[in-house]
Amino acid sequence: SLTLGIVGLPNVGKSTLFNALTRNDVLAANYPFATIEPNVGVVPLPDERLAKLAEIFGSEKLVPAVVSFVDIAGIVKGASEGEGLGNKFLANIREANAICQVVRVFDDPDVVHVDGRIDASSDMETINTELILADLQTLEKAIPRLEKEARTQKDRRPALEAAQKAKAILDSGRTMFSAQSEVDNDLLRELSLLTTKPFLYVFNADEGILTDDAKMKELRELVAPADAVFLDAKVESELLELDEESARELLESIGQHEPGLYSLARAGFHTLGLQTYLTAGPKEARAWTIPQGATAPQAAGVIHTDFERGFIKAEVVSYDDLVESGSKSAAKAAGKVRMEGKDYVMVDGDVVEFRFNV
Ligand code: GDP
Repeated sequence: SLTLGIVGLPNVGKSTLFNALTRNDVLAANYPFATIEPNVGVVPLPDERLAKLAEIFGSEKLVPAVVSFVDIAGIVKGASEGEGLGNKFLANIREANAICQVVRVFDDPDVVHVDGRIDASSDMETINTELILADLQTLEKAIPRLEKEARTQKDRRPALEAAQKAKAILDSGRTMFSAQSEVDNDLLRELSLLTTKPFLYVFNADEGILTDDAKMKELRELVAPADAVFLDAKVESELLELDEESARELLESIGQHEPGLYSLARAGFHTLGLQTYLTAGPKEARAWTIPQGATAPQAAGVIHTDFERGFIKAEVVSYDDLVESGSKSAAKAAGKVRMEGKDYVMVDGDVVEFRFNV
């Protein structure tokens, strides 16, 4: 499954956040046979639609989609030069599908900052610089090879041009993700550049920031097109110790209406380019994870590979139509249930039943 790699400078709250991410029993409850790796935190994607579906179909169990975060050892300046944990760090990032950067914006004199002061944009620049330098090293090796290839193979020219453009962007201090509109990242895929991966920023904040809309807007704009999530990692870990009522009071006291882990799960899911479709029956109401743009047979394949191979049709009703009708049979009677074939592109919130040959 796709993962987000958590990175950040030392002492920004990565471990605190990661502990909160791992201390929920979604895996134990729904995937009893899954191996849980110590450096992977799996969080449920909050989905209010499941409870509603369970009501309509009398489902016994709710099974949400999940988002996986991998804890990657702390970055240090000089990672791109292979200093200390540098090489391992870069290798771990290469394996992740997206980069989740934790940035400290909380103010606490008891927690030492590596550079002696709190400056979000300078921290982000430190991390991005290491990733950019690693990509420039990759390009320095790749460009001469691509030049050679392009001399004899005309069809290699676009790859060379993309690599040269990428070098110029990285030289100007920007990540390829932030410049995604300027180069066709597909042409760069063969180079596995780190900064083409989608970025997500988690601002580890305190109440002062969480209630300051203007400040949050400023940070959001600073990291766009990446998603930004604001939470208080310390509060998130405390929430898990509390009953529902006390948890709500604690959240309200810092101006929040839901746990920050919820918005983190949603943003992570979005950053990975994923969406869900739904199935429901007496046994369970369940959200299944598919890439945006997946076709009906590909969606069926997530349940079982045989479903993809033997795919015949998908019986689809949108969640909204289903809820409005009140039941599947009422939705059918209202003409809201469609039969879709193998070219159908799934839409988030489709409630589906597959027909297939085995
Ligand atoms: P890491 O080095 O990035 O993994 O950082 P840690 O999670 O170990 O956190 C470093 C220190 O900052 C610890 O003493 C945490 O208790 C503290 N800390 C983490 N998050 C917060 C926060 O949101 N607010 C405050 N005040 N302290 C925090």
